[in-house]
Amino acid sequence: MLLVGNGRVVTHDGRMPLVEGGCVALRDGLIVAVGPTAELRESYPSAEFLDARGRLIMPGLINTHMHLYSTFARGMALKDAAPGNFQEILERLWWRLDKVLDLNDVYLSAVVAMMDCIGNGTTTIFDHHSSPGAIRGSLFRIAEAAQETGLRGCLCYEVTDRDGKAVTDESIEENREFLISCKGSEDRLLRGLFGLHASFTVGDETLARCTRIAAELDAGFHVHVAEAESDVAQCLREHGKRVVERFHDAGVLGERTIAAHCVHVDDNEIELLGNSGTNVIHNPESNMGNAVGCAPVLKMMSRGVRVGLGSDGYTTDMFESLKVANLLHKHQTGQPGAAWTEPPAMLFGRNAEIASACFERPVGRLIPGAVADVIVVDYDPPTPLTASNIQSHLLFGVSGRAVRTTIIGGSVVMRDREIAGVDEPGILARARVAAAKLWQRF
Ligand SMILES: [Zn+2]
Repeated sequence: MLLVGNGRVVTHDGRMPLVEGGCVALRDGLIVAVGPTAELRESYPSAEFLDARGRLIMPGLINTHMHLYSTFARGMALKDAAPGNFQEILERLWWRLDKVLDLNDVYLSAVVAMMDCIGNGTTTIFDHHSSPGAIRGSLFRIAEAAQETGLRGCLCYEVTDRDGKAVTDESIEENREFLISCKGSEDRLLRGLFGLHASFTVGDETLARCTRIAAELDAGFHVHVAEAESDVAQCLREHGKRVVERFHDAGVLGERTIAAHCVHVDDNEIELLGNSGTNVIHNPESNMGNAVGCAPVLKMMSRGVRVGLGSDGYTTDMFESLKVANLLHKHQTGQPGAAWTEPPAMLFGRNAEIASACFERPVGRLIPGAVADVIVVDYDPPTPLTASNIQSHLLFGVSGRAVRTTIIGGSVVMRDREIAGVDEPGILARARVAAAKLWQRF
């Protein structure tokens, strides 16, 4: 048993949002109690005690749309002219990068990004993977990285028709095998979804195959939806309907499905997303960086759509995504009063719901019975911090690098910024060698 105490416990649970001088008791991967430190130390006198020294004690953060494989793009030069639109970004960067990844690159780019997640207090990720030159076994290499770092992860392989039938077949098989392995596994930290790239790269025959197999495996989907205007135009041209309508008719939507982006959706599509309980994931940095537009997520939330927050691989620091979401919607609407409440609701509320459904236990809250994913954040505020202004402190005062200690499933995976059980300098050195070789093949 482990007690994390002597801190300011931010539970992200409305019933008891802040416990001053608080403590969280962890046992067998779960939270068993939250309360005053003195009380819990008395109740569990033989437990190991981790002293937070007055810092914030919070639930680990959740990233509901991530691409671990994007790691090796950092600092890489493109070989063609700079992309002028979304399609060119895919063709000149991501589709060239993912094609030359081998299984060693997949593993190293995953383990490096996972260490970064842990360093920034992100304890759960929903990854969307692509490596068309090394498909079989790729999800299992990412799972290996997750097991070594201790990160909680929900993985999938993106199925697409863009590289021909053999690649499509292998991608479907990789999803199937990984989903089957998750079902039979005792591993409480790993789950799977059925990955699809996007409407414009998946034909009707493949889509029908995937929905049939996902239904057999009782799995939801993780898919990019209406990210750019060109996706909608292609869908209207080829299928006579808009992207969300097509996915609705094909049976892709639902409570377990993750629809990343949804930038270009109309009122009818918002209704379909809401009625089906589909999880829309907002990725503000990515949408701004790719210049694809601003997703109407404030409108979606006001109409009851569940909207979570992801980084799309842009960052592993969800505090950063929180800040960018706050600014994007002020800028977009011309309203300085906009988006105070929605981004925290996405990150701390909806992401927690999405992860809780996936991992079959409360995730992202410090309450008894929830998974023991806890971070200790170094934050000594210059102004009063109360239950009613926590969100403002997290928005303006905290970044991922302030995280001192990260606990996942009750295991201390980072203590005082030292990641446990992983040779961090050694892994980074191996990653730099692999990345340099990959850049030559790119
Ligand atoms: Zn993405």
